[in-house]
This record gives sequence, C-alpha cells and structure tokens, in this order.
Amino acid sequence: MDNPVEYLKGVGPQRGDLLKKELGIFTFRDLLGLFPYRHIDKSQVQAIGKIGGQAEYVQIAGTLTSLETVGEKRARRLVGVLQDASGEIELVWFAAISWVQKALKVQQKYLVYGRVSSFNGRLQIAHPEMEVLTAENATGMDFLEPVYPSTEKLKTKGLNGRAIAKLSHNLLAMLSPKDIPENLPAALLEQFRLMPRFQAYQSIHFPSSEAVFYQAQRRLKFEELFLAQIRIARLRMRRHKESHGWVFDKVGDFFNEFYQQHLPFDLTGAQKRVVKEIRQDTLHGRQMNRLLQGDVGSGKTMVALLAMLLALDNGFQACLMAPTEILAQQHYENICGLLAKMPVEIALLTGNVKKKQRGEILQKISDGSLQILIGTHALIEKEVRFQNLGMAVIDEQHRFGVAQRAKLWEKNAHPPHVLVMTATPIPRTLAMTVYGDLDVSVIDELPPGRKPVLTVHRTEQHRPSVMDFIKAEVKKGRQAYIVYPLIEESEKLDYENLMGGYENVKAYFPEPHYYISMVHGRQTAEVRENNMQRFVRGECQIMVATTVIEVGVNVPNATVMVIESAERFGLSQLHQLRGRVGRGADHSYCILMTGNKLSNESRQRLRVMVQTNDGFAISEKDMELRGPGDIEGTRQSGVLDLKLADITKDKAMLEAARKAAEALLEQDPDLQQPEQAPLLRFLLSQRSKSLWSRIS
Ligand code: ADP
Ligand code: MG
Repeated sequence: MDNPVEYLKGVGPQRGDLLKKELGIFTFRDLLGLFPYRHIDKSQVQAIGKIGGQAEYVQIAGTLTSLETVGEKRARRLVGVLQDASGEIELVWFAAISWVQKALKVQQKYLVYGRVSSFNGRLQIAHPEMEVLTAENATGMDFLEPVYPSTEKLKTKGLNGRAIAKLSHNLLAMLSPKDIPENLPAALLEQFRLMPRFQAYQSIHFPSSEAVFYQAQRRLKFEELFLAQIRIARLRMRRHKESHGWVFDKVGDFFNEFYQQHLPFDLTGAQKRVVKEIRQDTLHGRQMNRLLQGDVGSGKTMVALLAMLLALDNGFQACLMAPTEILAQQHYENICGLLAKMPVEIALLTGNVKKKQRGEILQKISDGSLQILIGTHALIEKEVRFQNLGMAVIDEQHRFGVAQRAKLWEKNAHPPHVLVMTATPIPRTLAMTVYGDLDVSVIDELPPGRKPVLTVHRTEQHRPSVMDFIKAEVKKGRQAYIVYPLIEESEKLDYENLMGGYENVKAYFPEPHYYISMVHGRQTAEVRENNMQRFVRGECQIMVATTVIEVGVNVPNATVMVIESAERFGLSQLHQLRGRVGRGADHSYCILMTGNKLSNESRQRLRVMVQTNDGFAISEKDMELRGPGDIEGTRQSGVLDLKLADITKDKAMLEAARKAAEALLEQDPDLQQPEQAPLLRFLLSQRSKSLWSRIS
C-alpha cells in the first residue's frame, strides 16, 4: 500500500509525477482513497424501444444500419442509426467526424452508451461511447462503472476519468484483505451492520449495484467519523490527564453571600446547570477548558460572574476579557453594580486607561490585592502579571484567536481555568467535531418574560412606512438602531452609503425634536466611544451605524433594529444584530431592508430570520447554506478534514459514531483489550504514515 504510485501497472514515472502534482496521489494507498464522484450503470442493456426520454443515460446494443454525413460547413455532422428488435435511435457526431467514420462499420453490432437528447422531436445520442458487441459484453458489466475526477493536465497525458478508473481497477485486482485490514472492532461491525473494510473499498470503487455502493459508502463514512471521534476523545483524555489545574474545593463567602443576598433574579435552569458543570470541572485538579454557548441575551454574564466568585473563594484572582472597549466597559459597570455591597476589588483595564492609573492597577494585580480584572486585549499584554490567576473568562470568543487565548494561560505556573463564552452558537454537530476536545456547555433557555423579536422583511417602497413606525416607537420613548453593511472591498462606497443613509434619516428626524448619533469605523476610538455613550445614556433616539455595534452592546430601551441591505449580511451576523434589541420589557422589532432583486440564497436567509429567533436553529441553517468550512474559526482546525462524511447530512451517523467511540474508550481507555488490537494498530500506523509518504 505504501508503494509509490508509479510502480502500478499503467502509471510509470511520468504519469506518476503528474498524479502527485495534480491530485496529491503518491502511493497505492492514496489512489485507493481517490473516490469516484459518481457511477455509470452499465449493468443493464436496455431495449431501444423502451428508452424513456431525454437526459437519461442508457446502454443499448444493436446493429448500426446506416452512417452518413449530412449538412454543410458548420452544420456538418455524422449521423448513424442503431437498431435492435424493439426499435431504432439516431447517433450523432459533430466533431472528429472522419475519424469516427473510419472506425465504425455499418452492419456491425455495437454496445452503445450515452445520454439521450432530443432534436426536432426525435430522440438521439450525441457522441456515444461505442464498443463492438462481443459475447462477453453482451450482457453488460457486472459492476457500475466509476467516474473519477481528473484535471486538464492529466487528460493531456491520457489520464482522463476513465483511464483513472482503469488504474483503480488494476490496483484493486492486486490487493488482498491483508492489504486493507479491518480497523473497526467486530462488535461495531455487527451492531451497525457494516461491511468489512476490504469489501467496502472494492465496492465503493466498483459496486455490483447501487445498493451495494451505498452500503460501502456507509461503512467508510462511519469509519471516518468514528476514527475522528476516537482521536478527539483521546486528545481530551490526554489533556485531562496531563494538565494540572487548580483545585477549587470550597464554595465560600463570596459565592454564597452573593448568591443568597445580591442575586437580582432567579437563575434559569440552564444557568444553574452550567454553574454546576463549572463547579465539577474545577474540583478535580485538572484544568477546565469549557466553551459556553448561549444565544444572545441568555445570561452568560451571570454565569461568568459566579465562576469568578468561585475562584475568589479559593484564594485566586479572576479576569474577564471582552473583544471591545465598550463591552468591557459595560461588563465593568454591570459587575461593579452587582458586587457593590461586597468587599471585592475590581478594575477595568483597556488601552484607554491613563498611565498613572494603569501603573496602580498593574501593581494591584501583581501583589494580589486586586481580585477581578475586566478589560480588552490589554489583559494579555506582557506587563500584566497576576499574582495567582485562577479563572479566565473570555467573552464572545469568535473575536479572539486561539493564540490569544493561549497567552492568558502563560500568565501562571499552572494555567488558569478557562471559560470561553460565545453568542454565535455553533451547531451541535460542528461543536462535537471541532471542539470535541473542549468541554461544551449550553444555555438553551432564555430568562423568563423575554419576548421574541418580531422580524419582518421590507423593500424600498416601504421606506416611508418604516420611518413612520420608528417615529411611533420613538414617541413612546424608545430608541432605534439603523445599521449599514460594511464590506471590505470598498470602504469608500460603504462610507458614502452610510453618509447617504444618515442624511436620509436626518430628513425624517430633524433636530431639535430628534437626535441622531453615528458610529463607524473611520472615527477614532474616542469619538466612536462618545457617540455610543450618548446612545447608551438615551441622549439620542437613533443610532446610525456600521456593524461595529454587532457585539454585546446592551441598551434595553432600544426596541427597533433596522438592517439596511440585509441581503449582504450572513445569517449569524443578522442574528447578532437582532440580538441588540429585545432586551427590555417592551416588544421589539427587527426590520430587514433589501432591494427587490434577491438571490435565492439571500431570500432563504431572510426567510429564516423572519421565521425563527432561535440562534441554534439559525446556525444549523447557516451551516446548511454555507457548508461547515465557512463557519468562523473552523477552517484551520483540520478536524473537518473529512473525505466522505458530511457533518450536515450525516448528523445521525456522527452522533452514533461519537457514542460508540465514547462507550469504547470508557471501558478500554488505552485500547489494550485484544478485540481492540486492529483499531490500535491502525491508529499507530496512521501516525507515522501520513507524513512519510509525502516526503519525496
Ligand atoms: P448574554 O448571554 O447575551 O451575554 P447577558 O448576560 O448580557 O446575556 O444577559 C442579558 C440580560 O438578561 C441582562 O440584562 C441580564 O441581567 C438579564 N438576565 C440574565 N439572567 C437572567 C435571569 N435568570 N433572569 C432574568 N434576567 C436575567
Ligand atoms: Mg454578553
């Protein structure tokens, strides 16, 4: 299997080189892993009289009763007629006419394969594949013919899809079951009725029927998903075993006093559950690395605060890192308010903190007198030295890279426990695959009394009524956001767009009856901050902005979110933006403005937004529409490197594979039982192989 591909009959050095360059095929094993993208059914020979209609691929057999060129110049073509006992059909060639004419013989019997089309109301097959009919091929092939991907360069060296099929055929004919040994435990094969591995490879390339092909595909998909889950689970086990984390064995005064006396509301069931999960994580002396997913407004901050208080109870410091200045500020004010009656030292550290004050904060962090530090990226700068950081919370994680997260860990001899919170829910299936080595918590319940945001889709001709609607809300004392898209290719255009919009809004809402605040990326951080604060304080009723307000801003009095050119936003972005309203007691509205011309996909996205407020449903749909590769942060993960399985379509199988992997590792974590020998051998062999075969 590790033989260089050029040793295969029909390859040789030249083609071998090309296979490497064009398709990344170095070895026999690689060629075996090049799967056909479809199959042609040549197992049946159809009666010509029974051909159903156009666009159908058919294999027929009969006598070529005539063959002649017709038409002049560009209309010149070669027309033949093939006849069997049931009827006849026309065959046509528009190119290579003289060559075909020489190669074919009238009155000869042929086996013909091609796609039926219709011309002037008559069925015909253009450029069919022709083979002289013999005793062997008269009954058709006993398997489906595979079609492989090829490239222009390969084709010039005679390696089109059919030629590759021949190579595949040569290879499979050489192999025996010991070349493709079973790697799944026998019990699993039985439980899931899976085909043996050797047979599966034979059948995915050259299946004897469609049903057999699907069985082979199912077996190999399961193998792929199962092995991925085993790898992820083993990574997680190793992390649990090797990483030492602080033990939080006390629930003390900070947590208890706050919980019993200052908690402003009852926790939702989901919040309680997550707090318990965090408590469990931090009890056992290994480092917690937990991803907390919760829709916008689900109350993640309170969970973060309780986690931090737990750290304080055990004599540690805690920090909370937010992606923007304004968010850090809001967290700071919010948490100061909640802990006002408790003896906790809290500080805010951002790029804006002045030098003198900064020095004081840094001092208190390092001598341990400061207990909770809240801030932006400023927290991960070198000069920030904690005395004993026990819990690091990261809010809205999709704004931070993995590398930045790792920096927080380096702040201690032991890494702190890490809680990563995200409001961009990652579909469960994706989380299972990509973040399989993190522990995942989900807040799947909104605080009581939350009213879903009513979402509508409107076009330009509705603009006056949309503006009237905003006016009515403002009259009730509410506030509104109007958001414009931001596309990087044309910052200038965006800016003009925003300014035009601003003028337009101003015409509807003139001073001094109304005040409008504007926030965009070209302003300095200070100006932006100021304008934002004016809106937060309620000094203006309308906020015109680009997507800079996407994350986290909390203005409960805002009840209208107008999104301009909504078709230009992705689903998760739309959901984030909508999450800025619906935070208070009043009914809130999201208005998606678009032009009249919309692509099919945009239309679907808007429909999803109108139909549901459920962030998880939206992210699932998003993944369906865009494919998992595009979901933020997953591209580099490599875990999604699946060849056959599709985590969107094969969700059920993924779950089954994960359960099976976990069950197996639970009773045999090191794969030491004799039944697991094939699996263990395979995992070990994989580790060395993938690398060496590619060095040449
Ligand atoms: P997010 O998960 O989007 O960060 P927040 O933590 O900002 O959500 O919470 C949104 C709002 O809901 C805040 O005003 C918060 O005080 C409130 N909240 C959180 N938990 C509850 C609860 N259990 N009951 C009532 N209100 C809650
Ligand atoms: Mg939040």
